[in-house]
Amino acid sequence: MSLSFDPASVRLPNGHFIGGELVSEGVDTLPFVRPSDERVVADLPVADAAIVARAVENAHRAQRASGWGTMAPRDRARLLRRFAELIEAKGEELGRLEAVSSTRPITAAMAYDVPATAEAFRFFAEYADKSGGEVAATRADHLGLIIAEPYGVVAAITPWNFPLSMVSWKAGAAMAAGNAVVVKPSEMTPFSTVRLAELAIEAGIPAGIFNVVQGDGQRTGDALCRHPLIAKISFTGSTATGAAIMRASAESGTKPVTLELGGKSPQLVFADIADVERTAGHVSGSILYNGGQVCVAGSRLIVQRGVEAPMLEALARRFRDIRPGPTWEAETGFAPIISRRQMERVDDIVRRTLEAGATALVGGAPMAYRNEGAFYQPTILTDVTPDMPAVREEVFGPVLTVQSFETEAEGIALADHPDYGLAAGVHTGDLGKAMRAMRGIPAGTVWINRYGRTADFAIPTGGFKRSGIGKDLGRAAFEANQRHKSVLIEF
Ligand code: NAD
Repeated sequence: MSLSFDPASVRLPNGHFIGGELVSEGVDTLPFVRPSDERVVADLPVADAAIVARAVENAHRAQRASGWGTMAPRDRARLLRRFAELIEAKGEELGRLEAVSSTRPITAAMAYDVPATAEAFRFFAEYADKSGGEVAATRADHLGLIIAEPYGVVAAITPWNFPLSMVSWKAGAAMAAGNAVVVKPSEMTPFSTVRLAELAIEAGIPAGIFNVVQGDGQRTGDALCRHPLIAKISFTGSTATGAAIMRASAESGTKPVTLELGGKSPQLVFADIADVERTAGHVSGSILYNGGQVCVAGSRLIVQRGVEAPMLEALARRFRDIRPGPTWEAETGFAPIISRRQMERVDDIVRRTLEAGATALVGGAPMAYRNEGAFYQPTILTDVTPDMPAVREEVFGPVLTVQSFETEAEGIALADHPDYGLAAGVHTGDLGKAMRAMRGIPAGTVWINRYGRTADFAIPTGGFKRSGIGKDLGRAAFEANQRHKSVLIEF
């Protein structure tokens, strides 16, 4: 059966979700523009500081009154597992909702976003009763305990590129640790988060534990970060917004922050790779997936001269072989850019790079043959230098720059970006080279002879330098949603 569907048949759960109820009031509305065809199909209510305060205060009360933070952790885990099962049971509905209201093609939403969202909640549920505190080494007539407690209310602010998945990483870790959450999804992809919050109630999670407020960053996001009852902030988005959030935290109570920010990740390819086609598959997949709108997009190819020509030939073939289309058609394999504004940003970076002397081996402009949706041509830029805009700045589009090198040290030096350190790929048949590159590149994640995450959520993700602070996923993300109380007993 084809996964294609009629976008008009999908209900958009439009509003905030506070204390178990959909709330549609707002101080203003924002037009919701469907990325695939740029049609305005809803008006999103914007929460001001008063509506945000209602959500946070409700969450604070619910976290205490419902016993969510104090119940036996295995009971909390059971509810979260039931939630995960419900997400899977509603997979088709959630997949269609995600496809209609984001850049995720339906085939990818069904194959990845929905199952990975369920799995992230399940993954964190497993920590609930398997991660306790510590007994400290003290003198024998004392007992020293380090007790892990939930913070209370955690703010989670998410970007538009993988709406369901991003909220599962943040809400999953926070809720499993016993916190209530108030999520602010991106105003460009607001709906699937609301549906998740509705399903949490259906799964038996107490009302007020999973809340959603809608709106833009300046009004809603900032008010959320500054509310005095927010005890921790977990954010994924751009580096500039991450800095604004850190400022808001500092000015409103020095709240701990987890920041997953931008990247400019290298794909370091040595001439001794065993299979050019296989490596080309990893490199092209890493920059074309979701139209390049991936934080860990491998946007800088750094290739050893001996393999440069066959690698570029294999990549150019792949960059030309794409299937753009609306996200609700099963055949679509290449995503639209989230908005016309973002596409113009992508094009501006490409144009400035071409003006600085680069060559477009493939692409280099918006797609002429699509008259609806903001689609950008997969682009390969050669003849670039490290100071050119497309090499220096995060593009967040399907744009790959190519730099070549002779010696191992030269390659590792080029892979090190002055600002970002989110992820890196290293491709070589030589273990020693792979290990030296792994040690030499300052990045939060290094993939060797592959690129991208697997379903092994035990591996944390997070950036170095301006790519962020702290980790999502892994035990680290669970523990970051707890605070630790030291207790010393004398007897
Ligand atoms: P963005 O920073 O524009 O927005 C992210 C979220 O922050 C949105 O919900 C937005 O409304 C909100 N926001 C904006 N200003 C705010 C403020 N002053 N206070 C509080 N909230 C505010 O990012 P985006 O364009 O939605 O997403 C793309 C960016 O996200 C890219 O830079 C990408 O690299 C990054 N990203 C990083 C990761 C990671 O794991 N490191 C994952 C996905 C995306």
